[in-house]
Amino acid sequence: MANEENWPAPTTWDEYLQGVMRWLVENWGAKKACPYCGSTEWQIGAVRRFPPAANWPVENDHELGFIPAIPVTSYRCGQIVFINALWIFEPQEVRMFAEEQARAEQLQSEG
Ligand SMILES: [Zn+2]
Repeated sequence: MANEENWPAPTTWDEYLQGVMRWLVENWGAKKACPYCGSTEWQIGAVRRFPPAANWPVENDHELGFIPAIPVTSYRCGQIVFINALWIFEPQEVRMFAEEQARAEQLQSEG
């Protein structure tokens, strides 16, 4: 299961970059253009942790207690796209758990 202390799963920066770049090519294609400026140059940043909003009715829905977000920045215009690191590095079981939790909470909120 996910271990907050060892986040993200890769142990070196090179592993991390390679994993993110592989995922981006597989899911965005090799030359994804920024929807705002058209540049195909992107910069990958370190994982940021998005905590749940304290007084908001919608809580983070998985056992990490935060959303591990990878910032991918358009090199020309600075637009940042965030990718949830769970979709890249964590085992399938963790992602499915998060999706089940989200579904359960959705059903609860719908009454
Ligand atoms: Zn751009």
